[in-house]
Amino acid sequence: MYRFKQFIDSMEHYELVYLKQKIEKGNLDVIKEMQEKIKDLERKHNNDCSTCSNNLDPYNPNSYTLMFGPEDFKKKASFCGLDCMEYFVSNMKHMKQDSEKTEF
Ligand SMILES: [Zn+2]
Repeated sequence: MYRFKQFIDSMEHYELVYLKQKIEKGNLDVIKEMQEKIKDLERKHNNDCSTCSNNLDPYNPNSYTLMFGPEDFKKKASFCGLDCMEYFVSNMKHMKQDSEKTEF
């Protein structure tokens, strides 16, 4: 929550008072705002490829984004092409197999 503290610290006194009042009066639904932002972020590709770190062109038809993990803790990875996605997926597969092996 360090970033949240930073965010609060960056606000002026009057901004903090104003925001607090808005939330208390129910004029600002923080959860809803955050959910919308999360949805927004989930819809978009990341800025760079998770495998080769190249800049990703969001309008390129060869850009891919994978979503994985549980609904309340989703992870996202974007790729500049099928090769990079394939590399990532096979890496994950190996990691999963390794962790399953070490359990016993
Ligand atoms: Zn790539």
